[in-house]
Amino acid sequence: MNFEEVLDQARSEGRDLLNEVEAKQLLADAGVPVVATILASTAEEAIKTADELGYPVVLKIVSPDISHKSDVGGVKVGLVDSNAVSAAFDEIVANAKKAVPDARITGVAVQSMAPEGTEVIVGMTTDPQFGPVIMFGLGGILVELLKDVTFRVVPLEERDARQMVDEIKGRALLDGIRGQPPLDKAALHNAILKVAAFVEKHPQVRELDLNPMLVYPEGAVAVDARIVVDAA
Ligand code: ADP
Ligand code: MG
Repeated sequence: MNFEEVLDQARSEGRDLLNEVEAKQLLADAGVPVVATILASTAEEAIKTADELGYPVVLKIVSPDISHKSDVGGVKVGLVDSNAVSAAFDEIVANAKKAVPDARITGVAVQSMAPEGTEVIVGMTTDPQFGPVIMFGLGGILVELLKDVTFRVVPLEERDARQMVDEIKGRALLDGIRGQPPLDKAALHNAILKVAAFVEKHPQVRELDLNPMLVYPEGAVAVDARIVVDAA
């Protein structure tokens, strides 16, 4: 589905939150690296998809009524075979229903498990005065603890992306501390610029979060994605 089709689908269901599968598909089309992610409606479908993607996989609840998936036991990582996938599918749906009894369950997202990396956040919010603003920062608990984030108003130039990555307090983590190899800042520049171009092209996008994106000595990939659009 292209952007308009995803938007129409969401609006016809009265949603302004795109689900993770929709968000990742649009971002992948826009050139942002994301893990392969496919929606499954049954445990059998989830196993078939996992077999195709290759193990290990991650399963997550997809529901318009649940935005913090791990808070409700809606994320299972490191699933190594079909038995684990089947059990995780049932557990995730049961956990979601227990935590949010009226939750509408769209299905379960089956996705490739990315290797361990350093977590960063790339995001966008709409400022009432300046319009779309891009955010970059370190992910995980660090972002909440240290508020180590930086912002730029759209449109962005390559120089902005480079400055953003270099001006966070935790930049040493990216440059490689204590014998760690430096991480791929060029991959982060690329992701930041692709997200900026995507939101510039689609003014209906109100909020966007890649939380987290994992960065490596070579490459970076978003494992979670959230997009909020204007209500019709
Ligand atoms: P939440 O809705 O709680 O933010 P996430 O999709 O971010 O759920 O998943 C929670 C955590 O699980 C992530 O912060 C990340 O550490 C890990 N995770 C999620 N998806 C993947 C994946 N595909 N590969 C590797 N780790 C993942
Ligand atoms: Mg997340």
